[in-house]
Amino acid sequence: MLRRLAKTGLACALHWTGADKLIGALNGSRHMPLVLGYHRVVEDYTACARQYMPAMLISRRMLERQLDWIGRHFRLVSLDELGPRLECGAPFHEPVAAITFDDGYRDVYDHALPLLKRKGIPAAAFVVTDLIGTSRLQSYDKLYLLLARAFSAWRAGPRELARLLHGLGIRLPVRGMNDVKQARHLVADPYTAMRVLFTGLPQIELDRVIEALEAEVGIDEGSFKDLHALTWEMVSEMHRAGMTIGSHTRTHALLHNESRDRVLDETGNSRQALARRLGTRIQHFAYPDGRFDTAAVSVVADAGYRFAYTTCLHRDPRYPLLTIPRRLLWENSCLNALGRFSSPIMSCQAHGVFDVFARCRQDHWWPVSASVAPGGGPGG
Ligand SMILES: [Zn+2]
Ligand SMILES: [Zn+2]
Repeated sequence: MLRRLAKTGLACALHWTGADKLIGALNGSRHMPLVLGYHRVVEDYTACARQYMPAMLISRRMLERQLDWIGRHFRLVSLDELGPRLECGAPFHEPVAAITFDDGYRDVYDHALPLLKRKGIPAAAFVVTDLIGTSRLQSYDKLYLLLARAFSAWRAGPRELARLLHGLGIRLPVRGMNDVKQARHLVADPYTAMRVLFTGLPQIELDRVIEALEAEVGIDEGSFKDLHALTWEMVSEMHRAGMTIGSHTRTHALLHNESRDRVLDETGNSRQALARRLGTRIQHFAYPDGRFDTAAVSVVADAGYRFAYTTCLHRDPRYPLLTIPRRLLWENSCLNALGRFSSPIMSCQAHGVFDVFARCRQDHWWPVSASVAPGGGPGG
C-alpha cells in the first residue's frame, strides 16, 4: 500500500509538471517507438488471479482503458510498419506505439481480438508453436500449478522442494548459493520457487522436476481450459484479421539456458512451422521471458528473423533490430493508491519513468548501455 501511494504521488508530480515526458526523452524514447507486451487477457481478473500468476493477466476492461490512453497519446502502428522504419533509420516525427501479446493463449483470441478489431488497433501475437492446438500447458504454468499444489500439501514447502531436487541430483539454480539452507528463502513460496527453477534450469531438467512433482501431486492439464493455447484455425483467423504473427519458440525454452543446437531448433523450426501454416514469411520473434545473450541473438539472426523483441533496456550492438525493447504491462501496472486506473501512472509507464527502478539482472555478455531505449517490467 505504501509503495502504491509513493508511486501515485511520484507519478502525479512528474505528470503534472511534464517531467514524465522529459524523462522519456532523456531515456531515448523520443526517438524509439513504445512497444508494449501483454500476456493473457481475461474476463474476470480477480477470479483468475486467485488461481494463476497475476502478472500474466489483464482484464479485457483494463486492456481497453490502457489501449484507449495509448491511442490518445501515440499513433498505433503494426510491427510490420515499425520494423522496416527502424531498419532504414527513418526518424519518427510523432510518438508511435505497437501492441504485442506473448505466449499464444486462447484468451487473446477470445477477448483481445474482438476489441482490437472493433477499435482498428494493429497488434502482434508471439506464439509457442508446439502448443498450438493442443491441451498441453506452458511449462511455467504447469510448474507453478504443481508447486502451488505441492506447497499446500507439504508441511514445509521449501524444505520438501530441496529434498525433491536433491533426489533428482539437481541443485537449486541460484548463483553463488551453495548452501541449501541459505537458498531456501529464495523458494519460500510457489511463485518465487517457479521463477528460480524456470529461469535457472535448462528445459530438460525442468521437465524432470515437473515429472517428479507430478508423481507427488498430479494435475490434469486438460482441465485448465483457460490456460490452453490457440488452435491453428484461430492463429490463421488472427493473421487474416491483420495481426502480425511472430514466433515465441517451439516450447518456450529460455534460450540462455540451452545449447546452440536446441536454440536453433526452437527458433528456426517454429519459424518454419508458422510460415508453412500461414503461407507468409515470419520476420518477428520474441525471446521467452525476455531472456537473451550474445549466443542466442546470433542464432536468432541465423534462423532468419529480421526483428526480435526483449523486455529490458539492453541492446546487442551487433544486432540492435534483434534486441528491440518492450515494456510489459498487466492489470495492476497503472493503478493508483485507490486501485483505480491512473492517467499519470500510465504516462509514467509509457515514458519509461519506472525503468529507473526496474533493474535488469540478466547477463547479456557484452558491454551494455542502459540508456538507449524503453523497457522494464515483469518477465514472461
Ligand atoms: Zn513468454
Ligand atoms: Zn537487460
